[in-house]
Amino acid sequence: MHEYSIVQALLERVDVEARCHEASAVTSIALAVGDAAGIEPELLRAAFELARSGTLAERAELTMRLVPESWRCRSCGAPLPAGGRLCCPACGGAVELAAGDELLLERMELEVT
Ligand SMILES: [Zn+2]
Repeated sequence: MHEYSIVQALLERVDVEARCHEASAVTSIALAVGDAAGIEPELLRAAFELARSGTLAERAELTMRLVPESWRCRSCGAPLPAGGRLCCPACGGAVELAAGDELLLERMELEVT
């Protein structure tokens, strides 16, 4: 499962952060998941439930914020609706994905004892 390896990489990062701050536990993890990131939020959550046991994030609450896919023109920066267009209606420039292909660790809360 694709999501499982994502979660493992995430938990490793969370673990490193937590140890840096000498935390005894991670209480919450907030993620931003892009629409176009190829990640299924429910599978990600299921993988998280499996992978976290025995880690500092064992009791962490996982929240996910979905980031809608959006595009913009590479030349003039005009925002464009998702899907379809490969060039900018204003200047004819090439379009690029502006948001929605990311998985970000936005915030985590630590318990330090
Ligand atoms: Zn343009």
